[in-house]
Amino acid sequence: MNGAALPAHSGAGGRGRAEAPEIVIVGGGFAGCAAAIALAGKGRKVVLIEAAPAIPNLFRAEKLAGDQLPLLEELGLLDDFKAASTPVEEFVNIRGRHIVDISRQLQLNMLYRDMIKVLRKRIPAQVTLRYDRVEDIVTGEDRQRVTLAGGETIEPRLVVLATGHGEALRRKLRLKRARAHAQQTISVAFTLTPPVDGFMFQSLTAYGESQGDRVDYISLFPIGADMRANLFLFSDIEDRRLKAIEERGMSALLELLPGLRPWVGDCGWVGDFASFPVELCNVENVVRPGLVVIGDAFRTSCPAVGTGLSCALVDVVCLRDLVGSWFATPGMGAEKIAAFYGAPRKMARDFSTHALAFRRRRAVADESRAGEFRQAAYYLARGLRDRLRRFAS
Ligand SMILES: Cc1cc2nc3c(=O)[nH]c(=O)nc-3n(C[C@H](O)[C@H](O)[C@H](O)COP(=O)(O)OP(=O)(O)OC[C@H]3O[C@@H](n4cnc5c(N)ncnc54)[C@H](O)[C@@H]3O)c2cc1C
Repeated sequence: MNGAALPAHSGAGGRGRAEAPEIVIVGGGFAGCAAAIALAGKGRKVVLIEAAPAIPNLFRAEKLAGDQLPLLEELGLLDDFKAASTPVEEFVNIRGRHIVDISRQLQLNMLYRDMIKVLRKRIPAQVTLRYDRVEDIVTGEDRQRVTLAGGETIEPRLVVLATGHGEALRRKLRLKRARAHAQQTISVAFTLTPPVDGFMFQSLTAYGESQGDRVDYISLFPIGADMRANLFLFSDIEDRRLKAIEERGMSALLELLPGLRPWVGDCGWVGDFASFPVELCNVENVVRPGLVVIGDAFRTSCPAVGTGLSCALVDVVCLRDLVGSWFATPGMGAEKIAAFYGAPRKMARDFSTHALAFRRRRAVADESRAGEFRQAAYYLARGLRDRLRRFAS
């Protein structure tokens, strides 16, 4: 029965079934919660089902910037995130002992679980939030069947799959997951406490120092009184440098990025080391009746590029803009669903995220002399641009 098509709508659910909502969203992470808010805002009857009753302390995005801020504004959520985060506007960007440039843009820093808390608080009362595991989804032209862990079924017209990296439901739905690149991104996070005289920067990015070290960059940014660190490497989880940082803290970090030394002074090492490998994957045979796949469940993005939340937000906005016309006519056939994946805004965001991930990997992993020269020229040009800009202003 898994993945099979359901017959046309036969009325209300049978014994043990809840009253049918219009939309069931599976997964209450960033994408699922934002979708619940946006779709309820369009007057849809939504049930949001999340497996974990307490918000887990997952290592995911820890900052919001760039197009994420206007997207949050578009969804009426920006002020909530501003109020709950630590904002920064100035970034010192270094490579080795040299300052590449100093850049300015608003960035809102907060742990991922706090982002989810902000979103859950904004879920309106008309959304039913249920803590349960969805075990199965069967899709059809007109209605869908969602089966919960206890056997209860719900039959909405549309299912939104927002289960992130979770593989079980994608497998049951026979959604083919394809790896887009052989190289994983290893993301590492930890917290530093300020040195006696405080840090001498608001926020700092240190790029990999030697060609071939597979270090993309480390980003240091404040959350509350502490300095959070996100380090990104194009490597694998067995990389012994990760173990060294976990075991020896700052001394191993400074062996990897010696240029950091004058910037971090005698800062403290909290010891909350976390690492997470991400494969670049997307779902191939995704267009099918009654089901929309959003966020990381649709495509994982490279954490170093920092646009996973942009993709999730663009997914939500595109879905919000389409549901009105979908529910205005009978059926939820594949032709309606295809409009979501073909939405120009979504395609543009997904394409540029993907292209950036490939470009970064190529630049960092290229160990040839030409690659080394290209990287040096890139940082030199950035520095010159910055100096010219400052000279002109
Ligand atoms: C280490 C790391 C660093 C990152 N850094 C950045 C960054 O700096 N900037 C950026 O923009 N992006 C970043 N990203 C990407 C960004 O975090 C993700 O794109 C985003 O969190 C995806 O949200 P999501 O809701 O799709 O998935 P998730 O947040 O993973 O949510 C999925 C939810 O589904 C639930 N679920 C799963 N299966 C079931 C089931 N069967 N029934 C019910 N519920 C279920 C899970 O419990 C979970 O709550 C990073 C990612 C990683 C891994």
